[in-house]
Amino acid sequence: MTLNALGWCERHRAEFAAHAAEGLLAGRVVGEHRSHYRVATETAELTAGATGRVRNTAAQRSDLPGVGDFVGVRLAVGDGASTIEVVLPRTTALIRKASGERQPQLLAANVDVVFIVTAADSDLNLPRIERYLALVRESGAAPVIVLNKADLAEDVDETIREIAAIAPGAPVHAISARGREGIEALEQYFARSKTVGFIGSSGVGKSTLTNEMLGRAAQATQEVRAHDSRGRHTTTHRQLFLRSQGGCIIDTPGMRGLELWNAAENAGNDFDDIEGLATGCKFRNCRHDSEPGCAVRAAVGRGDLEAKRLASYVKFSSPLRASPR
Ligand code: GDP
Ligand code: ZN
Repeated sequence: MTLNALGWCERHRAEFAAHAAEGLLAGRVVGEHRSHYRVATETAELTAGATGRVRNTAAQRSDLPGVGDFVGVRLAVGDGASTIEVVLPRTTALIRKASGERQPQLLAANVDVVFIVTAADSDLNLPRIERYLALVRESGAAPVIVLNKADLAEDVDETIREIAAIAPGAPVHAISARGREGIEALEQYFARSKTVGFIGSSGVGKSTLTNEMLGRAAQATQEVRAHDSRGRHTTTHRQLFLRSQGGCIIDTPGMRGLELWNAAENAGNDFDDIEGLATGCKFRNCRHDSEPGCAVRAAVGRGDLEAKRLASYVKFSSPLRASPR
């Protein structure tokens, strides 16, 4: 893993010089969880918290570090935790607007292109596409409309025409993610280590497309999610994926559809925090009970994780669920 592949460029290097002199390590946030971040650096992926200073200087919630941010990390010494000390200026920011009492929320940072994914089998929802377009244009990223499940469409060309009429200037691609049809046309958007964000309602095929474009099963698709007793996101602690073919994909729960406008908070991230910590356990199938080298119990010991929370995690996790690493 190299930072350049993650989109780090000369501009970042220049911006970061002073922080490097202070001993900070450059990285990119690849996962955001309830209690911590996952940050990819030149040499390793690590868990980090945000410093009080980072939290206090954020004028609003969307100023806090988020997936896609380039950050400076101070590495842990001894038993301490690594911390994000600085967030570099963002080139783009996908932000869910404030609504009611909710503050604006960062969905993803430094995204160059956003695929607005929609499916050809369901009723075409043009107003929804327009709202996505507005959100993407406001972010500074370039919108691309991906009409998935073309294999199920009655009249693909007509659908493309309808979309193009409300999306002047945005390319429209009809594909079949499951059949890998039309996917090559999407490769151009990843050129030169670009970051592409996927946005769209649940069920349109974002996970399938992510996996096809990564060449590996990184995201659980709906079939897999349905077979998983806990429902969602069990295998991945990550929302930013580096492609071996170049470029990155960001697919975060927050970008999954209707919830963008509904009041429903992105509830129930399950136990992302514990599973994130568990990647540091000595044993991959650690039950966080009495195993040596358990990073989860260590976090409880430090006061970073509530013992109660660990107890309910243990209660709800089945013995078969030992997560692959
Ligand atoms: P997500 O919720 O947006 O991540 O959607 P998934 O990737 O989980 O896909 C939802 C369902 O659509 C799954 O059953 C997929 O197998 C199916 N699917 C995805 N892409 C295609 C496609 O191109 N054609 C068809 N017919 N089905 C697809
Ligand atoms: Zn453990």
